[in-house]
Amino acid sequence: MPKKEEEFNAEEVIEEFEYVTKNAEAVQKETLRRILEANASAEYLQSLGLNGRTDPVIFKACVPVVTHKELEPYIQRIIDGDDAACILTGKPITTISLSSGTTQGKPKFVPWNDELFDTTMQIYQTSFAFRKRHFPINNGKVLSFIYASRQFKTKGGLIAGTATTNLFRDPRYKTSMKAIQSQHCSPDEVILFSSDFQQSLYCHLLCGLISREHVQVVSSTFAHSLVHAFRFFEQVWEELCTDIREGVLTSRITDPSIRAAMANLLVEPNQESASSIHDKCAGLSDWYGLIPQLFPNTKFVYGIMTGSMEPYLKKLRHYAGEVPLVTADYGSSEGWIGANVNPRVAPESATYAVLPQIGYFEFIPMEKKIDDDGDGNRDGGDPQTVGLMEVKVGEEYEIVITNPAGLYRYRLGDVVKVMGFHNSTPELKFVRRASLLLSVNIDKNTEKDLQLAVEAATELLAEDKLEVVDFTSHVDLSTEPGHYVIFWEINGVDDNEASDELLSKCCDRLDESFVDAGYKSARKVKCIGPLELRVLRKGTFQKILQHFLGLGGAVSQYKTPRCIGPANSVVLQILSENVVKS
Ligand code: AMP
Repeated sequence: MPKKEEEFNAEEVIEEFEYVTKNAEAVQKETLRRILEANASAEYLQSLGLNGRTDPVIFKACVPVVTHKELEPYIQRIIDGDDAACILTGKPITTISLSSGTTQGKPKFVPWNDELFDTTMQIYQTSFAFRKRHFPINNGKVLSFIYASRQFKTKGGLIAGTATTNLFRDPRYKTSMKAIQSQHCSPDEVILFSSDFQQSLYCHLLCGLISREHVQVVSSTFAHSLVHAFRFFEQVWEELCTDIREGVLTSRITDPSIRAAMANLLVEPNQESASSIHDKCAGLSDWYGLIPQLFPNTKFVYGIMTGSMEPYLKKLRHYAGEVPLVTADYGSSEGWIGANVNPRVAPESATYAVLPQIGYFEFIPMEKKIDDDGDGNRDGGDPQTVGLMEVKVGEEYEIVITNPAGLYRYRLGDVVKVMGFHNSTPELKFVRRASLLLSVNIDKNTEKDLQLAVEAATELLAEDKLEVVDFTSHVDLSTEPGHYVIFWEINGVDDNEASDELLSKCCDRLDESFVDAGYKSARKVKCIGPLELRVLRKGTFQKILQHFLGLGGAVSQYKTPRCIGPANSVVLQILSENVVKS
């Protein structure tokens, strides 16, 4: 059980973590029993003939491994209000979470319930206990770039929102978090305002500056929001200084509830603070070390920094200067997986220790040679899974989760690598989304391959003080032969522009950096055409973000889609309308 506020004791939490990880096998069995017992009456489990049995072997024999697609009809019935018979769970589902869905082009709906809330708190408490050991914080504040999006009612009257929104809006959230998180700089009105996140972002920055001496942690859910926040700061810092100098909030904030909440913080003009911030910003070279300059008592910068967030690390490190970056935990709208219990480790090497009491975990070995289509199915049949303690160090797996909110043997779509064990629970490194990204014919390049190619090519830009703000890709089959298209939005210091010659070199470097044998050989025999680099107008990725927010996504969970397929036609259109050079 997660600890209540008054009971929280970091050493006790660590002790419990040590206990469950030493007994991971028994804890897994018990977790499965608990989940299956609580949901024995669910129509789904009944129809599979489980008949209340909770043994892992019988469970695996009766219940198939599924993807979201197979569960969608059941989830749709729940959304539509047909939950009289309790379709996936013993107790009716009352809340639905929207996953960010940037891989598929639209958010996925998954059930959310109190048990998932509890597991969220368990994982937060575990990693917090370890952070507390390494970074003691006293009476500090956290500048947290978090944003709730809108919740809405489904046809069947259920509340739906992104998982982070469901969490932030849960009345228990604030109380539960009190014990394990310093006070936010921003008032609730700023966090919960869902109509225009730019207004929230501006106010988060202003609130942080008002409490700048007290800020000890700068955080967000995913690192993307942190980089986004400080890029925005570069544009509005003088306006923020003016607000502080005059004690009056800028007219760009139009929402009355936010204005009222901010008026309580911005009570009087503060010439001294405004001048100090102004001087610090003016004295920075290329904004290096901005975070510690603004918030001199920051102990660490916190947020999910692995996987698709890795491309933002360079910029984040630039802003953070010497302040350590600490990656947050590993989970999804479908449930939590592992905690970062080694917060001193750099994000690039970070692992997540699986918490065996928060779900039942299985792993599909990624066997490249046998698994031709990269989906984990060896011969097109039900994929073979291994249990939590059966995974091998150095091997890659796709995660399959059974959670307390009605997902049974559910393929999450993430590939992880086992780096070691903490007691008897594996420590996982996030590798990539499982779905294949770029493929014209025999070539197979993943999200990770794309990231590495982009990293290699952007080295060429650094010499000219240029950087890639964000990137995505597309397979263009409209030409014969088909070819890869990489989209870059580039930012130059002092409006520096990339020359055609430099871009041409980058394009070649990208092409060479896809080391997959299929790609190399197909390129050689011209079955794949030369890679094309398209440069986007400034602000294009902002438009893509806005598009996902319009679909019900949340800034807090946003991940730039790294490959745009035909299903994502709106994004493709945004991209094609904003190409400035090719
Ligand atoms: P969402 O679909 O919005 O619920 O986001 C969940 C997905 O975000 C996961 O399935 C992962 O692909 C990714 N994710 C979450 N936590 C991490 C992490 N710590 N490191 C890398 N990727 C993560």
